Amino acid sequence: AATLYLVATPIGNLADLSLRAIHLLGLVDALACEDTRQGGGLLRHLGLHKPLIAVHQHNEREGSAAVIARLAAGERVAYASDAGTPAISDPGAVLVQQVVAAGYRVLPLPGPSAAATVLSVAGDVAATSFAFSGFLPTKAGERRTALQALLAVEGQSQVVFEAPHRIIELIALLAELAPERRVTVGRELTKQFESIHTAEAGTLPAWLAADAQRQRGEFVLVLHARAPQAAADDDLPAEALRVLALLAAELP
Ligand code: SAM
Repeated sequence: AATLYLVATPIGNLADLSLRAIHLLGLVDALACEDTRQGGGLLRHLGLHKPLIAVHQHNEREGSAAVIARLAAGERVAYASDAGTPAISDPGAVLVQQVVAAGYRVLPLPGPSAAATVLSVAGDVAATSFAFSGFLPTKAGERRTALQALLAVEGQSQVVFEAPHRIIELIALLAELAPERRVTVGRELTKQFESIHTAEAGTLPAWLAADAQRQRGEFVLVLHARAPQAAADDDLPAEALRVLALLAAELP
C-alpha cells in the first residue's frame, strides 16, 4: 500500500547496501532522491529503471508534494539521500513530516551512517553516550564557542563532520583547546583509501601535515568523552557543605 520508505545507502562501499534495500528498490514505483544522477546511478547498478523525483535541500516542500501525489495514487515510493542515512545532516526530515501530515505511512530501512560507523571503531572507553553535532559553524568565533561547549561535556563522545578544506583548521583548534583529548579521525570510511587514526589532539596537526593524502577526502571525527571531573569543595551548594561539615565532625 501507499508507503514512503527512507532508505539508507552506502557511504562509500556499494556492497554495504542492504539486501532489504535492494529488494525494496526493486518493488517501489518511484525513487525520490537528493540527486537524480546519484539515485539513477544506484538503480542502474542494480539493473533497475524507475521514475526519479528530485527532493533536495532547496525544493524539499515542492518535492514532497510530488511524492505525496504518487502516494495518493496508491504507489510505493523510496527516498535516498546521496550517501548514508537520510535526514542525518541530509534532506529527509521535511519530506517525512509532510508525508506523515498527509496521512501516509513512512517506514525506515536502516543502513550505513558515517556517525555510527566511526563510533564503532573509536574505542572511546570513557563514554556512556554520544552526541552528534553534524557540521560545526564555519565562522571562527562561533566555531570556537561550539567546540568549547562540546569539549566540556563529560562522559559523552562527540561526533562531528568536517569538510576537507576545513580539516586542518579544525584539527589546529582542537589541538589548541584540548591537546590531551583523544580524537578519532575517520577518513574515507569504507572506501579504498580509508583511514582511522586515534590519538591525542595535540599530536594531530603534525600527523596531518606529515602526509598530504591524510588531508583529503571525507572526514568524520569523534572527540572522546571528557573524564568526569572531581567536584571541588567550592562547587557544592552551601547546604551540602554544612551537612558535610556536620558529618565530618562525627568521624573519628
Ligand atoms: N547522511 C549521511 C550519513 O548518514 O552518513 C551524512 C551526510 S553529510 C551531508 C556528509 C558528510 O558525512 C561528509 O562531509 C563527511 O563529513 C561525512 N561522511 C560521509 N561519508 C563519509 C565517509 N565515507 N568517511 C568519512 N566521513 C564521511
